[in-house]
Amino acid sequence: GTKMETVNTTFQYCDQLVRDFERVINKPLLHKSSVYYTGVDLGTAYIVLAVLDENYQPVAGAYRYASVVKDGMVVDYIGAIRIVRELKHELEQKLGTELIYAAAALPPGTFSLDSGAIKHVVEGAGFEITNLLDEPTAANAVLKIKDGAIVDIGGGTTGIAILKDGKVIYVADEPTGGTHFSLVIAGAYRMSFDQADQYKRDFKNHRELMPVLQPVIEKVSSIISKHTRDFDVKEVYLVGGTCCLQGIEDIIAKKTGLPTFKPQNPMFVTPLGIALNC
Ligand code: ATP
Repeated sequence: GTKMETVNTTFQYCDQLVRDFERVINKPLLHKSSVYYTGVDLGTAYIVLAVLDENYQPVAGAYRYASVVKDGMVVDYIGAIRIVRELKHELEQKLGTELIYAAAALPPGTFSLDSGAIKHVVEGAGFEITNLLDEPTAANAVLKIKDGAIVDIGGGTTGIAILKDGKVIYVADEPTGGTHFSLVIAGAYRMSFDQADQYKRDFKNHRELMPVLQPVIEKVSSIISKHTRDFDVKEVYLVGGTCCLQGIEDIIAKKTGLPTFKPQNPMFVTPLGIALNC
């Protein structure tokens, strides 16, 4: 129908960019560029480096599982610098050149608290920082939403940004994310956290997990409702690794009463948006 067409065009650029990025992560180099733009995403679950070429096309990328950030705050400063530096070196080996410029992002609301720490991590790893932006603004450089709510369900937190006429008018960040999903699975299946997290990431298990995860998804939905109800939000757009869960959008749509959409792969939207703002 018409709705589907609207959605497909909405995510066309995003889906293409993420596909191109997935094609270059941990893959041999396809082409060189005169300048490289790097996005550094320091997350609760992953640290991602996305590198774009002179035409803002993905050219290289790397990521590592890390627990150096909690609730949007850098808790392991030395560990964070070490991992960003290692990923930077890894990519430089491949590109045969030094990566100089990087942009980074922060969860909404932590700007005044933690922008110094993120900046120092990125600089400590040897980058010249060109921009520091908030995560939903970064994500929207890829999604290009004019009106509605971007909901970023990551590892540790759910970030919400409300857009009006293409501008972010409200942001919030609450401590519920994929980590809590994994804890619920660990409890229900008597698994370790790592086992549960791995089990959760396997798409084959998503259908079976839905009833187990329903309450925590409803909790996220109530967070979304709480922050969107005072605004004239008509649509919800999902990004972040946790939104890889097949069917999460249906529960959120039902609980919030808002049409809810997500791109093909919601996982790398924010790091790519950061790189686009480098
Ligand atoms: P935050 O935004 O909270 O700082 P982050 O940036 O590290 O964290 P993301 O990389 O967006 O967060 O998402 C990480 C979360 O996504 C983890 O909890 C991880 O288990 C989950 N995740 C990754 N892939 C999948 C998948 N295929 N299915 C379900 N969950 C997934």
